[in-house]
Amino acid sequence: MSDTAGPGPSAEGPFAVLLGVQDLDTAIAQHEHRKAALPERKELEELARRVAALRREAAQLTEQRDALATRLSHLEEQSDAVVARRRTLEERLYAARGAPGRDLQAIETEVAQLAGRLDQLETDELAVLEEQEPVEAELARHESELAEMADRSAELSAAVQKIDAEIDRELVELAERRRSEAHRLPEALARRYEDLRSRLGGTGAARLVGDRCDGCHLTLPAMEVDRIRHLPPDAVVTCDQCGRILIRASLLGGT
Ligand SMILES: [Zn+2]
Repeated sequence: MSDTAGPGPSAEGPFAVLLGVQDLDTAIAQHEHRKAALPERKELEELARRVAALRREAAQLTEQRDALATRLSHLEEQSDAVVARRRTLEERLYAARGAPGRDLQAIETEVAQLAGRLDQLETDELAVLEEQEPVEAELARHESELAEMADRSAELSAAVQKIDAEIDRELVELAERRRSEAHRLPEALARRYEDLRSRLGGTGAARLVGDRCDGCHLTLPAMEVDRIRHLPPDAVVTCDQCGRILIRASLLGGT
């Protein structure tokens, strides 16, 4: 029976290769996680949500502003009509100097009524103008805030793109290394590893560190560790607790 001091496999035995593949897979997963969890990306998403909310508010304000503008222009049209009517009457009044007092009286009454109507219209116009003021101010505030957000958003997008490109470059390199390493694995071992990896959160092989599985971090019973130690080097050992392929330090060709 061979133990750790036995003949020992080469540093590039299948289990050493497998561990290398696992380490590369772990590195790839970490890169992908880093990419997905980029604070700049999170901030960009948050910013997009705020921009959308602000745009909705701005659209409502624009609607209010437009409605007020329509009201104002209606009032102005009415004022214009009243002014025009008054001018006509005044001209008639001027031309009718010396006409019977009763006719002049009727025109003067209408002119006085028109003045009252004009006063009312001007009061209404002022009220609309007063209503417009805060709406315009709020809209301007929204627009400048949106402009600031657009700047920040462009900044963040550029940062995200740059970091993504860096990570992607590293990922391509890792994937290439992973592919060529995985080619060196015996087919059955590779299949078993892939199956475990897909079921166990990306980790299909783990180091046996002393009496502990580095995959699930649980301690193996002493008898089990002893049994494993005496298995032939080509035996595939799995963790009782998590089912992962256990890589014995003795098979890694020294440390
Ligand atoms: Zn385990």
